[in-house]
Amino acid sequence: MRVLVVEDDDILREQLTERLQASGYVVDAAAEGKQGLYYALEYPIDIAIVDLGLPEINGMDIIKELRNKGKDYPVIILTARTRWQNRVEGLEAGADDYVDKPFHHEELLARMRALLRRTGRWSQAEFSCGPI
Ligand code: CA
Repeated sequence: MRVLVVEDDDILREQLTERLQASGYVVDAAAEGKQGLYYALEYPIDIAIVDLGLPEINGMDIIKELRNKGKDYPVIILTARTRWQNRVEGLEAGADDYVDKPFHHEELLARMRALLRRTGRWSQAEFSCGPI
């Protein structure tokens, strides 16, 4: 499973990347919108986690653009903007789910798995880490 993470907060992006890698995901991480949009369109992404407030191109525009270009993988918005209007706007732009910061990694991972299951992308064998 290949995950795109677009997040401009360095600490959060690195934590998220480590956490996702530990869960068996391959992670493409972008710190700003332009790079994020490039990855979103050019890489074989299975699921994306997109922050809304980003330099250059904001998360909402990334989501609109990738949907316009026919990308249909699940997108989860990750943001500190908790007004209901932002949720509506995000979902209307083409996002599938919405996680507020601060969040628990377990919840985000569970939401990702749910979306991947529902969209039939969870076809590959789960990553196994060997004996613990
Ligand atoms: Ca941000």
